[in-house]
Amino acid sequence: MGILPSQIGRIIGDVMKIGLRTVLPPRCGGCGTITDTVHAVCADCWAGLRFISKPLCACCGYPFELVSDDLGDGILCGECLRKHPAFDAARAALVYDDFSRNYILRFKHADRTDLTPLLARWLLQAGRDFWSDADLIIPVPLHRTRLLKRRYNQSGLLAAALSRQTGIAWHGTVLRRLRKTRSLGGLGPSSRKREVGGAFAINERQAGKIGLDGARVILIDDVLTTGATANACTRILKQAGAMHVSVITVARVVR
Ligand SMILES: [Zn+2]
Ligand SMILES: [Zn+2]
Repeated sequence: MGILPSQIGRIIGDVMKIGLRTVLPPRCGGCGTITDTVHAVCADCWAGLRFISKPLCACCGYPFELVSDDLGDGILCGECLRKHPAFDAARAALVYDDFSRNYILRFKHADRTDLTPLLARWLLQAGRDFWSDADLIIPVPLHRTRLLKRRYNQSGLLAAALSRQTGIAWHGTVLRRLRKTRSLGGLGPSSRKREVGGAFAINERQAGKIGLDGARVILIDDVLTTGATANACTRILKQAGAMHVSVITVARVVR
């Protein structure tokens, strides 16, 4: 009795699936240990991750620790009251700490692009108030030399995944990074602002094509620290006609 071609295809498919599982056992995106969970989060890392939930600053998404019953929506944190950011709103999935940093570093620097669906799901949830009226998803760009070295823009991967899930168009080259900025780690707010000032630009031709004028944009980045990068990108996007910019990051610094 012969095997039908359709059966051969199925058998090859099954063998390849088994092969992939053997070659690449699922590893936790946080600590790298082998885990049999499908979501790349081991029990220890899951227990350590701090997801941000309400109540939070209506603008920058800073989580308020002191929960008061009469704290309604639309409350701003002290920072945003003092000086409103250039962006209209920001939300992050996680508090930036050792646990979330491990995920972000593996995703950015260790070729763990397989973490994209997991992180995209977290971003989807963090930005749940924004998707319904958004027009465009735009990732914070890498400078091309860094892109060549790293081979992928982690925020671009997230933007593409979010676009697939929401049906909102994404565009990875309309916002460009003109010069390589130093790592912002260890720099204070004003140095960060200086470092990213003038670092970004718009590709005008593409902006026209994708209808940036009047658009509500979702900007994707990995971490919100002082907001210097998000603000610099927002200013450029708004100069080019964007009407509204919301920022969604995997994690944010909470001091
Ligand atoms: Zn782990
Ligand atoms: Zn705020």
